[in-house]
Amino acid sequence: MTAKDEIIYLDNNATTQLDPAVVEEMLPFLTASYGNPSSSYKFGAEPRKGIERARERTAALLDCEPDEIVFTSCGTESNNAAINSSLQFDPRGKHIVTSAVEHSSVLRHCQDLAKRGCEVTFLGVDGDGNLDLDELVRAIRPDTAIVSLMWANNETGVVFPAEKIAEICCEKRVLFHTDAVQAVGKIPIHLRDSAINFLSLSAHKFHGPKGIGALHVNRRSRFRPSIIGGGQENGRRAGTENVASIVALGKAAERAAESMEEEQTRVRTMRDRFEKTIRERVSGVSINGAGTVRLPNTSSFSFDGIESNAALMLLDRHSICCSAGSACRTGSQEASHVLRAMNLGEERARGSLRFSFGRFNPESDVDRTIEIVPKVIEKLRGLSSGTAAEEPVAVQTV
Ligand code: PLP
Repeated sequence: MTAKDEIIYLDNNATTQLDPAVVEEMLPFLTASYGNPSSSYKFGAEPRKGIERARERTAALLDCEPDEIVFTSCGTESNNAAINSSLQFDPRGKHIVTSAVEHSSVLRHCQDLAKRGCEVTFLGVDGDGNLDLDELVRAIRPDTAIVSLMWANNETGVVFPAEKIAEICCEKRVLFHTDAVQAVGKIPIHLRDSAINFLSLSAHKFHGPKGIGALHVNRRSRFRPSIIGGGQENGRRAGTENVASIVALGKAAERAAESMEEEQTRVRTMRDRFEKTIRERVSGVSINGAGTVRLPNTSSFSFDGIESNAALMLLDRHSICCSAGSACRTGSQEASHVLRAMNLGEERARGSLRFSFGRFNPESDVDRTIEIVPKVIEKLRGLSSGTAAEEPVAVQTV
């Protein structure tokens, strides 16, 4: 057994293992079939066909039309592109509505736009991470260019009612973009009859490769590209296509569509057993967002009296991979902006750990983790109260 086999990977919201079927499908496009899809000779036709098949498969997962899919380099690009596009159409439209719990690819982009003349309303959430839809209605103004709200939260798994939000925006005649990077492949999405204008996704969150994403642009919605150059992607995203990764995204989408129902149930059962046992074995623990609709794979805990970075280090010694809130902040001492926005108190925000399950986790991963987590928490609490066992731990300096 190699060290890699021993890893217990419970950080599937950060990224996922490539599905072997995805690797198999993309390999020919990294080797023999290397033609440029824009070339007119026959050698360019195979990559071109690969891209179009991927577009159809991605559209099938989202229940939309293939020509509504624009391939991008990642979820971050998709999020930036949707917001940027909306700001370019209506010169009056310089107001954006978003939330305080978005991923940094929306949050920081909006903060940056605010410094450059846009007005941004950041909606708050309640203690369960829910939005107040009446507050959303009140926030929309005549000069609102776009509402951008995530479908599912990467830290807590809390699911926003994206379809209902889209209807509100439609009634108010304002564009709606949803960052569905954590939702796609985990919960069913039907865009056909929805009022959603733009939706972002990223392949590496559902067993595809990193560095490839897509933006769904509803047929009714005008879109102006952020990346200008050649006429690729029907003029909506310039740059020679990342053929192998696009093909891989398509295959990952097909696999997600095939296994969604079975996988949702299996992963939810595993997650629920994990949460139940941790609650039984550890005192002073709460589950963030437990009172509302959540993704089936995500557990966000707050443990009283610990620092999450210290817990991460101890868990890492047991080869358990999880994260403190979002992976983007790992290594930073700052508490989760999501948990802070939920007003749960500084201690709960600082003592948070996120475990996220996925397709390749066997039940034995849960068995092992429910043995280790209580010991780690006990040790850290002992350290802070001065009653720890003698074994020295590196985390004391964290
Ligand atoms: N949006 C959410 C909710 C995410 O969780 C992430 C990744 O962590 C992103 C956007 C960014 O996606 P990418 O890593 O493809 O840029």
